Amino acid sequence: TQARVVIVGGGFGGATCARYLRQLDPSVEVTLIEREPRYLSCPLSNLVLVGERTLDAQAHGYGGLRALGVRVLFDTVTEIDPVARRVRTAGGTQLDCDRLVLAPGIELRFDAIAGYDAAAAQQLPHAWHAGEQTLLLQRQLAAMPDNGVVLISVPAEPYRCPPGPYERASLIADWMRTQRPRGKLLILDAKDSFTKQALFQSAWQTLYPGLIEWVRGSDGGAVERVDAAARTLYPGFGFNEHRGDVVNVIPPQRAGAIAQRADLSDASGWCPVDQLSFESLRHAGVYVIGDAAIAGKMPKSAFSANSQAKVCAAALLCALHGQALPEPSYANTCYSLVARHYGISVSAVYRLQQGRIEPVAGAGGTSPLEAPSAVRAQEAAYAEGWYASIMADSFG
Ligand code: FAD
Repeated sequence: TQARVVIVGGGFGGATCARYLRQLDPSVEVTLIEREPRYLSCPLSNLVLVGERTLDAQAHGYGGLRALGVRVLFDTVTEIDPVARRVRTAGGTQLDCDRLVLAPGIELRFDAIAGYDAAAAQQLPHAWHAGEQTLLLQRQLAAMPDNGVVLISVPAEPYRCPPGPYERASLIADWMRTQRPRGKLLILDAKDSFTKQALFQSAWQTLYPGLIEWVRGSDGGAVERVDAAARTLYPGFGFNEHRGDVVNVIPPQRAGAIAQRADLSDASGWCPVDQLSFESLRHAGVYVIGDAAIAGKMPKSAFSANSQAKVCAAALLCALHGQALPEPSYANTCYSLVARHYGISVSAVYRLQQGRIEPVAGAGGTSPLEAPSAVRAQEAAYAEGWYASIMADSFG
């Protein structure tokens, strides 16, 4: 009989997995269940905040997957029995399958910062899911006074898109430079260092001198409490609070709620998997990929989710057909725009070492610290080229 695979979540991870399963083995019946008929992608969404791109340009449909024979169901998965491998949806559908893949992305933790809950996010947007939140932050920026102060609060790792908050700060500064030159931008960071830090900070010094201030965790950057009505962020005891005109709180995160409900996450809030196959360590025959999974040293990115989805599709088919697993390699590049035409990147190739995904020495790196502006402009163009190809590779 035909093998049945159900995939929960049609973002970068789930969509890629569906495509590659059908391409590798067209005899497999693949059902993808996704809540939203229109996927709004986060990569490049920081450009939407400053009016350099529309939200509609971030949208992608599922016609490409359907053309490959993927059964796409727009519904919300409400219940998963990971032992029976049975899925139930809000719309009343029940599906049984041979293998189950979860790619539900992240859930924002509204219990981590005192006072920061879903209601507070209507005043202090996170904009960490693309959509209404992106537009809310965009409107707040547009309405900001001349000498306005923007606050961005950044969580400790792991979180979705490690360089994302700094790209966001950069692009907002690029906009403020001409639109709100008397304003200031303050990054309150729970960490003491961040990815591509030297590249970001030297670019900030050159492009936006005195505009961006970064406060590290041990200097009072870790926000513990918010007062949403007063647009004020409070770090721990002994440090000053900060009041902003526009306040972007990126809260700590965990695996998408359905992964928690399906008993696939551990005490960390993320899902432990066999990093060779992405099969859950908690329930056999169930796989978790993308942001929700614990994937060694890979960052939580669209590129990682896409790379993991291909490894997972191959491993899942090997398991179904009783074949030995090949040894995979995994890849990631994260481009960041420091200004509209100024790009930087970090890349790595990964292999499994003692069961953990680790970067291969010498097979990656970051953009050079010193480079002519033509090189930065080229990398900004590569970022858009990357976006076009990852969308095509993930969604068809
Ligand atoms: P998602 O893409 O979030 O997909 C999860 C899907 O599951 C969603 O469509 C959701 O609707 C669905 N879902 C969840 N629960 C259910 C349920 N119960 N029933 C049905 N459907 C459900 N990454 C890069 O590589 N490059 C970048 O330049 C980049 N820039 C970024 C900028 C920003 C501002 C942000 C926030 C992120 C950025 N990222 C970038 C990170 C990237 O967006 C994520 O890492 C990526 O989306 C993870 O893919 P995923 O499939 O795990 O989750």
